[in-house]
Amino acid sequence: MTEQISSFQRMRLTNRAKVLNQIRLKQPISRAVIAKETQLTPATVTNIVQDLLEEKMIKEGENGSSQGGRKPILLSIDDRSKYIIGIDIGAFEVRMAITNLQAVIIRKKDLPLSAKLDNSLFLSYIEESIQNIIEESRLDKQAIVGIGIGMHGVVNAELGTAIFAPNFQLVDVPIKSYLETKVQIPVYVENDVRAFTLGESWFGAGKGINHFICVNVGVGIGAGIIYNGELYRGSNHIAGEFGHTLIDIKGEKCSCGRIGCLETVASGKALVEYVLQEKDNDYIMQQVNSSEQLTGELIFQCANQGDPCAIRILAKVGYFLGVGVTNLINLINPECIIVGGGVAKAGGFVLEEMRRVVKDNALTNDARNTIIIESELKDEGTLIGAVTLVLNHIFFSNHK
Ligand SMILES: [Zn+2]
Repeated sequence: MTEQISSFQRMRLTNRAKVLNQIRLKQPISRAVIAKETQLTPATVTNIVQDLLEEKMIKEGENGSSQGGRKPILLSIDDRSKYIIGIDIGAFEVRMAITNLQAVIIRKKDLPLSAKLDNSLFLSYIEESIQNIIEESRLDKQAIVGIGIGMHGVVNAELGTAIFAPNFQLVDVPIKSYLETKVQIPVYVENDVRAFTLGESWFGAGKGINHFICVNVGVGIGAGIIYNGELYRGSNHIAGEFGHTLIDIKGEKCSCGRIGCLETVASGKALVEYVLQEKDNDYIMQQVNSSEQLTGELIFQCANQGDPCAIRILAKVGYFLGVGVTNLINLINPECIIVGGGVAKAGGFVLEEMRRVVKDNALTNDARNTIIIESELKDEGTLIGAVTLVLNHIFFSNHK
C-alpha cells in the first residue's frame, strides 16, 4: 500500500491532516475557525470538510455562537463510523482491541502466543486473529481505517518489519507487507515501548509535554523518547534500548549475550534473582511452591504486606533504575520520566528510590528535580499506543 504520489496529492493530504487535527484538538469547531487556525483558505477548508463528512471521518453537530448572522455549524470527529485495530505483541501473548477514532476501546481480546514459532506461523496466526476479531465485531471491514501494531524487539517502523524479536528468536519478519496483502487494510508497526510512549504522549501522562522519556520495566527494560513532540527512533532503529545500556562491565551475562546491561540488575527477571540470593526470603518463599512461581507481582504483594526482604529488593531495583535514569537525564534532559510496566505497579517502593538517586546524582539542580511519574495508561499503554500509530498517520499525514 506504499504508492507513489505527486506533490499535488501530497499537499492535499497534508492540508487534509491539518484540518482533521484541528478538529480533533478543538472539537466542536466551526469551518471559519479551522481556516483561521490552519491558515488555509475558507474554500479549501470547505472542500476538505465536505470530503471528510462524506467519508464519515467527522460529523456536523450543534450550532455555535455568532455575533450576528447565521450561527455556524460545529464539526467534531465522528466516533461512530470509523474504527482502528490495535495490537500489542508481547513476549507471551497478543492483545488486540478495536477502538473508535478517539481511541476508546469497544472490543478487546487477549490471545496466547507460543514461543515455538517461525516467521510464517507467526504471521498467519496474527492474520487469523485479525480476521477473527473483525468477524466477531460484525463491523464492515471498510470501516476499519488502519491496524497499528506494537511489536517487542527491534523494529524497522518505516518498512514495518520486525528486525529481531528475541523471545521468539525471529529475524526479519515482514509484518506490514504480509498483513496488508492478506487483510487489505493499512498496517503500521512500531517497537512496543515506542508505541506505548506515543500513546502516553496523545492520551496519557505525556499529554502536552514536548520532551519526555517513557521507561518500561517488565521482564525486560525499554524506553521511548519523545523529542520535540515526536518519537525519536535513531539512525538504525535501536534508540530507546535502555535495558541494554551498560551499567556494570564486569557484571552478569544479559539475555542479549553481552555482559553487564541494565537489564541484568533492574528488570523483573533480576528481581526474582535477588529473592533467591537473600537469606531472609522465607516470607516470600512461603507464598510459592517453587522458585519458578516467583513473579514481580508477588514480590510487590509481599512488600505491601510489610515484608522487609521484599521492600529491600524493590528498593535495590529502584536504585539501579535510578542510576540508569540519571544517565538518561544527563544525556537527553527531558521534562519528565514516565515509568510503566510491572514495576510501575510497585509504585512508591521502586519510584521513591529512583527519585532519591536522581536527586543525589543528576548534574544540575533542574536535572535533579526532573519529574518521575507513573504511566497513566498502565496495562493498556501499548494497546492504545498501537492505535495511536494509526491516528498519528491519519492526523499528521506522514505520507511518503
Ligand atoms: Zn543486554
